Amino acid sequence: MPVLEVENLQKYFPIKKGFFQKTINHVKAVDGVSFHLNAGETLGLVGESGCGKTTVGRSILRLTEPTAGKVLYKGRDLGQMDRETLRKTRTSLQIIFQDPFSSLNPRMNVGEIIAEPMKNFQILSKTETRRKVEDLMTRVGLRPSQMRRYPHEFSGGQRQRIGIARALAVDPDVIICDEAVSALDVSIQAQIINLLKDLQKELNLAYLFIAHDLSVVEYISHRVAVMYLGRIVELAPDQELYKNPLHPYTKALLSAVPIPDPLANTEESIILSGDVPSPVNPPKGCTFHPRCPMAMDKCQTQPLYRQIQPDHWIACHLYP
Ligand code: SF4
Repeated sequence: MPVLEVENLQKYFPIKKGFFQKTINHVKAVDGVSFHLNAGETLGLVGESGCGKTTVGRSILRLTEPTAGKVLYKGRDLGQMDRETLRKTRTSLQIIFQDPFSSLNPRMNVGEIIAEPMKNFQILSKTETRRKVEDLMTRVGLRPSQMRRYPHEFSGGQRQRIGIARALAVDPDVIICDEAVSALDVSIQAQIINLLKDLQKELNLAYLFIAHDLSVVEYISHRVAVMYLGRIVELAPDQELYKNPLHPYTKALLSAVPIPDPLANTEESIILSGDVPSPVNPPKGCTFHPRCPMAMDKCQTQPLYRQIQPDHWIACHLYP
C-alpha cells in the first residue's frame, strides 16, 4: 500500500470584493490532482512558478484546507480524522521549506529548535531528548557542540540541515521538500540532496520533492509529475520522462533545461508562445491549448488524465 495517496485534490482560493466581501470568483490553484507515493520513494513535482505545486504540498499537510479531494496516509483519510487524531498523524508527514532562515525561530537555539516537535508530540525525558537532538545533529552533518548556537550563526546550507533535523525529530514517513534547495548555492544544493538521499536509504523515507529546477529533480526523483495550471499533465518514472517526454508541455519544459555542453545538443529548444493563462479563468478544454504547438480542434475539450503505459500517466488528446 502506498504511504500517501492523493485523490482529485482541489484548492480554490476565493476572490472577494466590495463592502460585504462577496465572493466574485476563485483562483483555481489546484484543480484535480491525483498521485501516490510509496515508502522509500521520491516523487518530483515540477512546473513553472504559480502552477500550484506548493499549494499541493500545503493542502496535503492541511496547512491550507483543501476545497475537495482526499489525502490518504497509509489508507486513512486525513479529512475524516478528528482534530486530535489528525494532530498525531501529522507528525508522520513533515515539511522542509525553501527558506530555512524564516522557518527557524531566531530566538531559539538549535537544540531547542530541534527538540520543539519532540516536546509537542513525544514523551521523552530531558536526557533522552538531548541524546536524540545530538544524534539528529550528527546525522545531518552538524556538530552536537553547536547545539547552543542560534540560526543566524549558521550558513544557508547549515540552516537547511537544521530544518531537516527538526523534520526528522518526530520520526516521519513522508517529508514534503518544498523548494528545499532552491535558495542554496549549487555546491551546497548537491550536499543537501546527497544528505536527503542518504537519509532516505537509512530511514525508508518518502519524499514529495517540489521544485522548478528540472536537473535537481532528475537527480533525486524516482518518478516525476509535471504540473500546468493546477493539474498534473504527465507523470512517469524519472528516466522515461526525461528521455521520452510525451506531453507537449513536458517536451517544452525539458527542451529549456541548460545542458553542460551546448555544442553537443542536437535538440532544438521549444519556445512556447504567450504567457501562462490566469488560474482565475483558465482556458476551456485542455488548459495548455492556447500555447500548444500541437493543438487541434478536439483540444477544446478537456483530455482525460489516464495511464497509457505502465506507470506513465498523461492528459493529452495526442495519445488516445
Ligand atoms: Fe496540446 Fe491538445 Fe495535447 Fe493539450 S490536448 S497538450 S492542446 S495536443
